[in-house]
Amino acid sequence: MLNRYEGYAWNDRFLPRLTTNQIKELPKEDALVILPIGAVEQHGTHLPVYTDTLLAETVLTETFQYLPEHLNIWLLPALPYSKSNEHAMWSGTISLSFTTLQGIIMDIAKSIKQSGFKRLIIFNTHGGNNDLLKMMMREIRLETGMSVFYIFIGALPIDTALFNDVEIKYGIHGGALETSMVMASRPDWVRTEYVSKDISEQIVHSKYLKYQQGNFAWTIDDISTNGICGDARDASAEKGRIIYQQHSKLIAEILLEMAEFEFYHINKEGVQP
Ligand SMILES: [Zn+2]
Repeated sequence: MLNRYEGYAWNDRFLPRLTTNQIKELPKEDALVILPIGAVEQHGTHLPVYTDTLLAETVLTETFQYLPEHLNIWLLPALPYSKSNEHAMWSGTISLSFTTLQGIIMDIAKSIKQSGFKRLIIFNTHGGNNDLLKMMMREIRLETGMSVFYIFIGALPIDTALFNDVEIKYGIHGGALETSMVMASRPDWVRTEYVSKDISEQIVHSKYLKYQQGNFAWTIDDISTNGICGDARDASAEKGRIIYQQHSKLIAEILLEMAEFEFYHINKEGVQP
């Protein structure tokens, strides 16, 4: 698999490899700028703390392989630090406070607007950012007037036949899904001797209190003894390659739609809402 700085994404579509004049002269009307947001946070004893950022870089590297070359889509460097305070008590986690992250996202968005771009995609690979980034989408739209889109990798469908039931239902952090993906892109970064399973029996036996419902706050120590939440023993590089391929093809299709999406101008006749 391709890694950072390899392939079409990095050689042709990595925005900061251009000079200021080249960026100034780019056609902006239909240009789409992707801001990937990862994390640096503990992922158990077998995965690197860089996991989420690595996944963002790798899946976007793959995605560009599926995009038509004429498309006016540009990749920014991934923001590696984000809101990871649910893992703050574990070594290696580097977390921004939510106010800092809001400020950084807004400043980046304003800079993109200042350069003349009109379309921004926030591409997030860390679940702990979800609520804040969804809120920021609207703030950016109001503040800059740009079209703002959002993709969260964890919301994309996965082939449930690939993993066992426990992982499908409760694998939210460092389980087989993420482990497979790191195994596929950087196998030398996985400490396979420490691959394990850890799920919260309390959540398994709750009727209504499930992760997907988001109706309780947690830190990793509330739901895990070893820093992961899932069954990483079910991981393999082959599964990771399948997930990357499925995700990349789907993200490419989503990007194509975002590149052309415009709201209907319901009020263009001057009718006040
Ligand atoms: Zn992760």
